[in-house]
Amino acid sequence: MHDRFPDFRLGKVLATSFTATLTERRGDPVERIPVPRRLVDWLAVSGLAVQSCTTAQLELARELRESIHAVLTATASQEDLPASAVQVINACSAQGRAAAILTPEGNRQWRLSSPSCVEDALGVIAADAISIVAGERDGKLALCASPTCRAAFFDTSQSRSRKWCEMNTCGNRQKKARFNANKRP
Ligand SMILES: [Zn+2]
Repeated sequence: MHDRFPDFRLGKVLATSFTATLTERRGDPVERIPVPRRLVDWLAVSGLAVQSCTTAQLELARELRESIHAVLTATASQEDLPASAVQVINACSAQGRAAAILTPEGNRQWRLSSPSCVEDALGVIAADAISIVAGERDGKLALCASPTCRAAFFDTSQSRSRKWCEMNTCGNRQKKARFNANKRP
């Protein structure tokens, strides 16, 4: 159906899964939400289903995404948070009106104020980023060791020594590169 679009890189953390909709920022960037329809798809698989999305909403989503990326990168590097990025995150968080709903099975679901309210979904993502940066969750922000990636990821491993945003992509590529380098005479 969406064969001509790049796949999503989905992780366990909402905010970093969202920033991973643009990958290889320091290499040849891959935009994984190139059209509004793909943001709708991404939100659906992330538990924030909306019925539609406008071009303006997609632009807002990308602005939030890059702001989260900037703030997570600064946090991982122990640098001051960029003020303009903080502003965008706070504005999105304040604008969202999603409600946390407890299911009979004891799971949390998000209920948006209307089925087309992308802003509500972005509010949930912004709040997720805030909770990570504020240190409310068990884990540590780190930057991917791949020089073409440098994505910020949330390391929840016991040793807090994870090197790559994803073992299957950046990790394997790095391993292969090292293997090939060793093979050279
Ligand atoms: Zn990476």
